[in-house]
Amino acid sequence: MLQTETNRASAAQAYVAEVFETVKRRNPGETEFHQAVKEIVDSLVPVFEKHPVYMEQGILERLVEPERLIHFRVPWTDDKGKVHVNRGFRVQFNSSIGPYKGGLRFHPSVNASIVKFLGFEQILKNSLTGQPIGGGKGGSDFDPKGKSDAEVMRFCQSFMTELGKYIGSDLDVPAGDIGVGGREIGYMFGQYKRIAGGNEAGVLTGKGIGYGGSLARTEATGYGCIYFVNEMLKSKGLSFDGSKVVVSGSGNVSIYAIQKATQLGATVVACSDSNGYIYDPTGIKFETVQRLKEVERKRISEYVNEHPTATYFEGCSGIWTIPCEIALPCATQNEIDADSARKLVANGVQAIGEGANMPSTLEAIDIFHANDVLFGPAKAANAGGVAVSALEMAQNSMRYAWSFHEVDDKLHAIMKNIYTSSVKAADEYGHPGNLVIGANIAGFLKVANAMLAHGIV
Ligand code: NDP
Repeated sequence: MLQTETNRASAAQAYVAEVFETVKRRNPGETEFHQAVKEIVDSLVPVFEKHPVYMEQGILERLVEPERLIHFRVPWTDDKGKVHVNRGFRVQFNSSIGPYKGGLRFHPSVNASIVKFLGFEQILKNSLTGQPIGGGKGGSDFDPKGKSDAEVMRFCQSFMTELGKYIGSDLDVPAGDIGVGGREIGYMFGQYKRIAGGNEAGVLTGKGIGYGGSLARTEATGYGCIYFVNEMLKSKGLSFDGSKVVVSGSGNVSIYAIQKATQLGATVVACSDSNGYIYDPTGIKFETVQRLKEVERKRISEYVNEHPTATYFEGCSGIWTIPCEIALPCATQNEIDADSARKLVANGVQAIGEGANMPSTLEAIDIFHANDVLFGPAKAANAGGVAVSALEMAQNSMRYAWSFHEVDDKLHAIMKNIYTSSVKAADEYGHPGNLVIGANIAGFLKVANAMLAHGIV
């Protein structure tokens, strides 16, 4: 018996190692994709030990290979008539449990590695929400910063002219991400509608409220992250009330994380953008950040002109040297490295909630776990955005709209459920308290079982 268990454990480890080596060989230089795969496959070893059928049916080697990767040219003209060419991507990673679903990112750093890492994470995240949505992601190396509205519109129209051939409300439903907010979704929806020749509301989510959007979608990722962290805190008798919180970024996720944490009694002492961060010991005012970043599209440094209690510092990583009990990385991938993690721990951090995708390096996560810091991984903690996107699809299908409170209540229930199913899976597979492993396993099982049911496809 003991011998059989040992054999199974080494077979599972060898299987995972072999699949990971193949991923590296087939996707050379795609470091972000390798990192995302590594984090997930390592935590699945106990699953393969317990259920060898997943190995026998090649579930993992199929899971790490996108069903489809679309790569296209996006030509557009600026206001002076100069022609520019950007690259567009869409990775349709896995449709076992529903249509591909995942955001579009417009940022100069976007390439195949970035969209694959995001798309791969999205498979298990979407599964964790309990809703019928598969995993996808896309975007472009276009930078909307500093462009006029007319330039952004022409770019979005050109992007959608090509992407529109591959999406649909039962096929693939994109949404926003970094650099893609309500304005960009509006332009893309307008172009899709024109090409498709009808109003297929469910083809994109994150739409404006007046044309098929869901109430509480804008707030969903930030609020959802706070609801998730609140569950983690409660498990240790802690709470947001009276705590000091640091939130990186000042975009969609950060703004609403700041608002909800403040509503729950926390003092959010810092937030940032890609140039620097602001520190205000009296608490960051949500309304100012929202107006500066969402409406006026200005830099976070301008905050100090309106609030003399705040100070601005150049550079991003310094934000993690500010003492806090709760840290919420809500900006971008790999923003907390081992050094920043050590500083947070030395300053007494008790909980990390990943609002952004993969904001902590693998070394940083190890440091948090080794120091008993509560750690809410991205695919669980930031799943609120895609969860409400799926609720937007449901409302579009019903041709009916729920109130803000109805959507927010559903979001709250979904985040609690993600927390409890992650805790349960971590317990069942021998890693109590490890939500990275728990979330990966809970998300994986549903997808793997659907793949088994569908045969080798
Ligand atoms: P936004 O474009 O709205 O905001 C991104 C913010 O992060 C901006 O303030 C940006 O600053 C800042 N930023 C970018 N790079 C850095 C950096 N290196 N250091 C500090 N700040 C930086 O994007 P979102 O808020 O939508 O997305 C943020 C993260 O959350 C991403 O990882 C995204 O994938 C993830 N996410 C988003 C969801 C959503 O519903 N929107 C859902 C789930 C995850 P600047 O203004 O200078 O560019």
